[in-house]
Amino acid sequence: MLTESTYEPAQAVYRHTILAGDRWMHVVRQGQIFRIHDLEGNQAADTLIYDAHHPDDRYSASDTIQRQGKLYLTTGSVLYSNLGHALMTIVADTCGRHDTLGGACSRESNTMRYALDKEHMHACRDSFIRGVQECCEHHLDKRDITCNINFFMNVPVTPDGRLTFADGISAPGRYVELRAERDVYVLISNCPQLNNPCNAYNPTPVEVLIWDGDR
Ligand SMILES: [Zn+2]
Repeated sequence: MLTESTYEPAQAVYRHTILAGDRWMHVVRQGQIFRIHDLEGNQAADTLIYDAHHPDDRYSASDTIQRQGKLYLTTGSVLYSNLGHALMTIVADTCGRHDTLGGACSRESNTMRYALDKEHMHACRDSFIRGVQECCEHHLDKRDITCNINFFMNVPVTPDGRLTFADGISAPGRYVELRAERDVYVLISNCPQLNNPCNAYNPTPVEVLIWDGDR
C-alpha cells in the first residue's frame, strides 16, 4: 500500500548515504522513525534487524509472514522476531512491495544463479559477516546471520510456488519508513551484485535517515 511520510529530511537527527556495495549498522531507538531512501531506483537494500539488547532475538521472515498471512511487506507490516516480538512497523512506503523470501546474495548463490566465474564477486552475505563482526558489544558472528528483508526488491511467487526475480518496481526517490517498536540494530548490505536484473545490473547508493518520533 502506497503511503507517504510526513517527516521532512531537514528535521532528521541522522542522515547517511550507503554507497553501492557498502554495509551500514546503526541503532534505532524505540519510537524513532527510520527511512531507507532508494536514491536512484531499484536498488536492493538487504537488511537484518536485531533487538539491540538481546540480539538472539532478531528478525524472522517466517514469523512475520505467518502472523500476517502475507508474503510481501508494505505499509502496516509488522516485522516480528523469532521470539514473537514486534521489532519495527512499516509506517510509510512509496514503493509498495518488499521481498523477504529471496534471502541475501552469497558467492555460492551467485555461482549457481549466474556463472562459475562470478564466485569471486562481492556479495551481501560477505557484507553481513563483516557487519556483525564489527558490531558493538555483542560479539556476533556468521551464526547470527539469519533471514533478511530485501527492501525495494521484487521477487514474485508464481502460481506453482516458485520464486522469480523480476524487474524492480521502485524508482528514483522512493522510500520505505519504519517505526522502531524497541531498540534495534539495523544492518544493511547495500547489494553489490552486478548480475541482478532487479537493479538493471547497476548497483546504486541508498540513503538512511532517522527522526525522533515524538511530535
Ligand atoms: Zn546482494
